[in-house]
Amino acid sequence: AKEAGRCRYSYFTDVMSARAEQRMRTEHDLRIALANEDFRLHFQPRVSHCDRRVIGLEALLRWQRSDGRTVAPDEFLDVAEQTGLIVQIDEWVMREACRQSREWQASGLPVVPISVNVSLARFDAERLISHVRAVLAETGAAPEALEIEFIESQMFAQQERGQQVIGELKQLGVQVAVDDFGRGFSSLNYLVQYKFDTLKIDRSFVQGMPDPKHLAIVQAVVAMGQALDYRVVAEGVETHEQADLLASFGCNEMQGFLFSRPLAAEQLPALLRNGLPA
Ligand code: C2E
Ligand code: CA
Ligand code: CA
Ligand code: CA
Repeated sequence: AKEAGRCRYSYFTDVMSARAEQRMRTEHDLRIALANEDFRLHFQPRVSHCDRRVIGLEALLRWQRSDGRTVAPDEFLDVAEQTGLIVQIDEWVMREACRQSREWQASGLPVVPISVNVSLARFDAERLISHVRAVLAETGAAPEALEIEFIESQMFAQQERGQQVIGELKQLGVQVAVDDFGRGFSSLNYLVQYKFDTLKIDRSFVQGMPDPKHLAIVQAVVAMGQALDYRVVAEGVETHEQADLLASFGCNEMQGFLFSRPLAAEQLPALLRNGLPA
């Protein structure tokens, strides 16, 4: 028994040190990627279901690795948050989104708000506000063309400062969204306290439909969001059935693979001009 115990012990330490090593390698690579700006934005359309127009874009981070792989954030967000590198990465994303918005505007395309995701894991309210101010000034992007998405569960851990930073962002004219609504340890209380512009229903609820429990929750969240004067956006819409149910609840703003996957910047002008193909 003693032997076996020892074996197990060494097995777990091996796994743990392999994992630690992997993290250190990712951290090292991320620092290089930041210096070289090896990041790209993909943009996923937010659409109006009734007329298939693109009414917004969500900027989603992609890491162009030196071996040619394009890596999605799930593979490196943990490390980026733990090391604090996420702050610089999110700052890069905001700048790039505003730059891209201005470029599209200059080429005569309709301007739609671009949403960026901001992690609150290493939150510094003053730094965020001054960065937003600097980026708007630098790029000349209209504040209304920028929306900042905060993940609900992270917001919850940031109570007082969260409320303050939302107020300051709104004073700058920037839109604020609560992301992944329903997924974290939601408190309805802060929907009253904080004044977001947009509420994004987490895709797990959308994709749970037409299961009756999920139906009931989505319907109630749409009604509540609208009663509180939020723009309500459904995420992760993959089927016509989900889209039709949402529309029947009065939720017209949707995002998901049914309409479009996140796309490289070059693919956006046609969509911005013409809407989604029929
Ligand atoms: P999110 O903010 O909830 O973004 C939506 C994610 O859902 C995206 O994954 C998108 O590709 C995916 N998605 C969109 N429609 C569908 C659908 O119909 N079905 C399914 N199954 N998935 C769909 P992505 O790009 O891998 O991003 C994952 C998460 O990483 C994001 O979730 C967001 O929390 C985070 N993230 C992305 N970019 C950034 C960033 O620049 N900064 C920070 N801090 N986080 C980011
Ligand atoms: Ca988001
Ligand atoms: Ca989300
Ligand atoms: Ca998410």
